[in-house]
Amino acid sequence: MRKEFSAGGVLFRNGEVLLIKNPSGVWTFPKGNVEKGEKPEETALREVLEETGVKGRILSYVGEISYWYTLEGERVFKRVKYYLMDYVEGEPKPSWEVLDARFFPVEEAQKLLKYKGDREIFKKALEKIKSGPEPSKLF
Ligand code: ATP
Repeated sequence: MRKEFSAGGVLFRNGEVLLIKNPSGVWTFPKGNVEKGEKPEETALREVLEETGVKGRILSYVGEISYWYTLEGERVFKRVKYYLMDYVEGEPKPSWEVLDARFFPVEEAQKLLKYKGDREIFKKALEKIKSGPEPSKLF
């Protein structure tokens, strides 16, 4: 069995969340492989920037999901850590790795997110924002 470990971001700007359309045609959060010597936090910021052109800043950890998929006939077990981010700079522009990159209002994102793990992570991220100590600038 093969194992992979990635990290990604749930990045908000003015009440909208940044999503990418992955090569499978599914809207999801930007993420990527945690390279040797890299902290997952660094990966998450780097991958959000690489895939979307948007620079974020980490506010907190959201959680980890896991899933299985098949690569060239081999089963892969994948873990992904997600971080809540706010917006620093840049306009979404999809890299060659993704089909699209855009900000969506929360309700629209809730309809677009198809993966079970993504829905769980989005719910947790929204709870974190709402239970924060002060009114969030994310909304
Ligand atoms: P990374 O973005 O971490 O570098 P990758 O592009 O190599 O990864 P994944 O995005 O993990 O690979 O996609 C591999 C397979 O898993 C695809 O078939 C994809 O549709 C599916 N997949 C992607 N994200 C999820 C998810 N959150 N839950 C279930 N399946 C997923």
